[in-house]
Amino acid sequence: MSLDTQKIRKDFQILNQIVNDEPLVYLDNAATTQKPKQVLDAVCNYYEHDNANVHRGVHTLAERATADYEASRDKLRAFINAKSRKEILFTRGTTTGLNWVAKFAEQILQPDEEIVISIMAHHSNIIPWQQAAEKTGAVLKFVYLKNGELDMADLRAKITDKTKFVSITHVSNVLGTINPVKEIGQIAHAHGAIMVVDGAQSAPHMMIDVQELDCDFFALSGHKMAAPTGIGVLYGKEELLNRMNPIEFGGEMIDFVYEQSATWKELPWKFEAGTPNIAGAIGLGAAVDYLTEIGLDNIRQHEMALIDYVMPKLCEIDGLTIYGPKNNTKRGGVISFNLANLHPHDVATALDMEGVAVRAGHHCAQPLINYLDVPATARASFYIYNTFEECDKIIEAIKATKAFFG
Ligand code: PLP
Repeated sequence: MSLDTQKIRKDFQILNQIVNDEPLVYLDNAATTQKPKQVLDAVCNYYEHDNANVHRGVHTLAERATADYEASRDKLRAFINAKSRKEILFTRGTTTGLNWVAKFAEQILQPDEEIVISIMAHHSNIIPWQQAAEKTGAVLKFVYLKNGELDMADLRAKITDKTKFVSITHVSNVLGTINPVKEIGQIAHAHGAIMVVDGAQSAPHMMIDVQELDCDFFALSGHKMAAPTGIGVLYGKEELLNRMNPIEFGGEMIDFVYEQSATWKELPWKFEAGTPNIAGAIGLGAAVDYLTEIGLDNIRQHEMALIDYVMPKLCEIDGLTIYGPKNNTKRGGVISFNLANLHPHDVATALDMEGVAVRAGHHCAQPLINYLDVPATARASFYIYNTFEECDKIIEAIKATKAFFG
């Protein structure tokens, strides 16, 4: 079913503006998405009517704030189909979630044990593992690519009985590749390893069922799925979260505090030290309601239709190189490209002059950019409010850029 983008766009006032004398075409959704009125209203409503700290007060506002904050946790549980609300930890975003899992790895890794990640990982799924390896003497291994997809033969060779953690990006923010994380999890589990999924670019765009995927951890960012910045979720299987030490210590996460020691609250609060991002969590809950009403399968279908529409037109442009899988069904709504020998920053600046917002750079994936042997790429990334007309607009703008630079 195609989305009613005209109806959806009415919820995103920000899209209705002129940039450099042209209507804005926002195609930088992999960096962050825009927020609908419903999410902004939920945040505003909290501050205007219910603002209080959570889990502390007995007064009415404190009870309302706590109820709304915890109701968002329930919405997130349902959104990714976790078994229990205890498995939903509020974080600042995917980066925080992956750092927390890597801290757990530091708790259990022994020298010479192995961590397996992939060359298409975002820095937030590389550096925490580098740190864990450095601190424990474990070895960090990379899986490489074949035709823009993970080389599964390489992956099978790299995951062995020495592997304790496998951490894979569900959808690459550079290549758009959708990785078979369920299958990879089965391989990891067959060797007794813990399977971690970076869901920053998948949770906003497709139905996620963590029980079906059978992953051990799954991290997502609110701001990439129509919610505010500074809020995200780390899902972890209850049994693992029980084994995991808290990462931060302080108020809200304790049960009893003595002069020389303390005990922790039960899950999920054991991990939520200090005053949390209450408004952010409420905004994320509202975003989940918004996306659920549209339907995650419909969102995926819409983005696939946009990709199917724009890809052949891009391929017709002489001198344009597209990275990632050839098969569009293996791609999320992300297209990285380079135009002849123009620097992608020049391309992005020229597109901005036409009102088209794309990202250019290394996309926080320098090892991948080195592996592709390019200085950087330009990247267009789509979401629920993007239209076929906007696809035409980027094609025209790329052609005009090419003509301008000769
Ligand atoms: N992983 C992937 C694949 C991403 O695209 C991003 C953000 O671009 C992140 C992790 C980090 O997300 P955040 O900056 O929201 O923590």
